[in-house]
Amino acid sequence: MQREEIRELLTATELDVLLSRADQVRRSCVGDVIHIRALLEFSNQCFRNCKYCGLNLGNENLKRYSMSYDDIITVAKTAFEVGYKTIVLQSGESHDFDICILRDIVREISSWGMIVTLSCGELRDSEYALLKSSGASKYLLKHECANADMYAHLHDGYLLEDRLKSARVIKGLGYEYGGGFLVGLPDEVIELVIDNLLLIQKLACDMVGVGTFIAHPDTILKGEKSGDYELTLRCIAIVRLMLPYSNIPATTSLSILGDSDRIFSAGANVVMVKVTPQAERECYEIYPSNAHTTDIEKDRVNMQFKINKLGRQSS
Ligand code: SF4
Repeated sequence: MQREEIRELLTATELDVLLSRADQVRRSCVGDVIHIRALLEFSNQCFRNCKYCGLNLGNENLKRYSMSYDDIITVAKTAFEVGYKTIVLQSGESHDFDICILRDIVREISSWGMIVTLSCGELRDSEYALLKSSGASKYLLKHECANADMYAHLHDGYLLEDRLKSARVIKGLGYEYGGGFLVGLPDEVIELVIDNLLLIQKLACDMVGVGTFIAHPDTILKGEKSGDYELTLRCIAIVRLMLPYSNIPATTSLSILGDSDRIFSAGANVVMVKVTPQAERECYEIYPSNAHTTDIEKDRVNMQFKINKLGRQSS
């Protein structure tokens, strides 16, 4: 898709027309199934200072945790037994969590036939390779912002080019690669939204998460206006048109801002349900969210019910 076509879809096409096109493409390319993934946030340790994220290193109000091997395996096992086929293991970026323990966790969970997706930020090339050879099959590493200067500003000096280098390594190792970006960051202009979409297309992502910026009170961006719900929906729909066979999650940040069911008619075909134990869950807020008590089995049943009510099937 070219820049001008994206601009037209973002700014001029009627929303319902765009969503309906995306929904048709979704139906014919990936079907009616919505995949429910278990999301386990196993550590909130992070040495980065991303300006939009509540887990930033400078947040002294946050109680830090890392779950033990046994606790992670127990949660994953419960999730597997209640029907989850895929678990997303997510953490901040930190060298505090031993890569060999993570390798063992991946190996153990994969041995049951459960698919392991990792979302642990930028690692060394050898670490991506180690985790791949231990059984992990997907890796999420969103670029968040396609403008190099703005990226460096938001990420406290870290570079977009390093992020993209990691993406290339991840893809080269044969992982399914998940990219994505944030809509509504302060100082965003429409050209940046278009650049974000073009980068997703160039990276040929297998999975694409489009989140909406929501200011966290313990960040430097506290008080800033949230991203726009409709613009995020448009981005999701455009991603579905660009990459018809990709997996697109209905991101939680978007469902906080508006009708969560509508996301599924914009092209989304995946949803992540948190299985993080309650105490840890309360300490894993990238953006402010509604507190919700974790009940691994009930939450899955409720999600299946919601999906069925939409006339879709769950997996
Ligand atoms: S976005 Fe990720 S790397 Fe950045 S502060 Fe949050 S957890 Fe750490």
